[in-house]
Amino acid sequence: SLQDTTTLHNGVKMPWFGLGVYKVQEGEEALQSVKAAIKAGYRSIDTAALYQNEESVGQAIKESGVPREELFITTKVWNEDQRNDSVLEAFETSLQKLGLDYVDLYLIHWPVKEKYKQSWKVLEQLYKEGRVRAIGVSNFQIHHLEDLLSVAEIKPMVNQVELHPLLAQPELRDYCKKQEIQIEAWAPLGQGRLLEHPVLQEIAAQYNKTTAQVILRWDIQNQIVTIPKSVKEARIIENANIFNFSLTESNIQKINALNKNERFGADPDNFNF
Ligand code: NAD
Repeated sequence: SLQDTTTLHNGVKMPWFGLGVYKVQEGEEALQSVKAAIKAGYRSIDTAALYQNEESVGQAIKESGVPREELFITTKVWNEDQRNDSVLEAFETSLQKLGLDYVDLYLIHWPVKEKYKQSWKVLEQLYKEGRVRAIGVSNFQIHHLEDLLSVAEIKPMVNQVELHPLLAQPELRDYCKKQEIQIEAWAPLGQGRLLEHPVLQEIAAQYNKTTAQVILRWDIQNQIVTIPKSVKEARIIENANIFNFSLTESNIQKINALNKNERFGADPDNFNF
């Protein structure tokens, strides 16, 4: 079900499925979409300081009436705060905007060179103080993780990366599995650009499902945490309606075969923001 969880290596349970809110506008748009998602049964919300909608996410959480401990809230520290050595202040600001006294998962948004190891120390401190239930990274390649693990006292519990059928990340997934780092997909739908793919459409027709549902089901069956974004209530409901069917192994293989290492987003080894 929508509330099924993966157990992170520290024992914390994280839902396999959640709502992403990148580019969702602070105010009515963020408020209404998060409320619609929670009403539809979502329990996990993925935001970031960068998205500038933490206040509305926090308001939606309050207005939802769902007890705080039943929700799983992720936010992230932005690059500028790594460069300015202001990770701790950034965390306080996020918490205050969200109106929460802890977040479930705090992530380093991008591996800012010469900075991410220092940033990690701050996240470890927040974790030890119980201000976050889990800590992790985002957009880390294998070499970033190896570098981080060489100094980490606490292993990241999650690595959130661009991942969809055209960028299936098989080596990174294997590596993270061995390290007990849960993989989480951002842009699971390729930011909407995968929805007319003929192979996915053909598979979707077999199940009377949409291409979005097929992709998200592929995530779940591959043990990938997934956080599709939509601001439309009908699509928020549609995207979550993936727990009443199963892709066959042969269809999973057909989707696996679509991988061509094609990124829509920035390259974690060469980003300029
Ligand atoms: P996505 O792959 O979730 O695609 C979202 C878009 O797909 C929507 O804007 C809409 O246009 C379309 N869509 C969604 N559901 C649909 C449906 N059922 N039918 C038709 N069209 C549909 O892209 P995303 O928002 O970039 O990624 C998901 C989340 O991942 C983000 O909201 C954010 O929380 C996170 N993210 C993280 C990073 C990072 O660097 N860590 C980067 C990008 C996104």
